[in-house]
Amino acid sequence: MTNDQRTASLKDASLRVTAPRLATIAVVEEQPHATAEAVATEVRDRLGSVSKQAIYDVLNALTDAGILRRVAVDGRGAQYEVETGDNHHHIVCSSCGRLEDVPCPVGEAPCMVPPEGDHGFAIERAEVTFRGLCADCQSTETNQPGHK
Ligand SMILES: [Zn+2]
Ligand SMILES: [Zn+2]
Ligand SMILES: [Zn+2]
Repeated sequence: MTNDQRTASLKDASLRVTAPRLATIAVVEEQPHATAEAVATEVRDRLGSVSKQAIYDVLNALTDAGILRRVAVDGRGAQYEVETGDNHHHIVCSSCGRLEDVPCPVGEAPCMVPPEGDHGFAIERAEVTFRGLCADCQSTETNQPGHK
């Protein structure tokens, strides 16, 4: 995305265009799945005088506006990526926590609905997280027999 495109998406979302908002989107584009902490550190490196809390507020506003997507994997802080609308899912290593994108077989939300009824909910999306051991952790396990 160019800065003009970032400006346009802020305007589309009726958000005021500010330097911290533009920088936050740029950082998340460059570092997909960055934690709020990592984004705040990077934005502060670029802009200087912004508080961490201000950047957390920016992350929340951008997520609410649908510009960013928050990926919540239990046991870890939220990670952020640009919302591309591709409804992709994530695969997480249950040992080291490495997180990768995987395409949604359907490609649009909701890609599945509860088989026995939706309890009256209007289902918007299914968040699917695949879990397993990444290649690195698999080889570590093999090299350490007896390691649980
Ligand atoms: Zn791993
Ligand atoms: Zn992702
Ligand atoms: Zn899916």
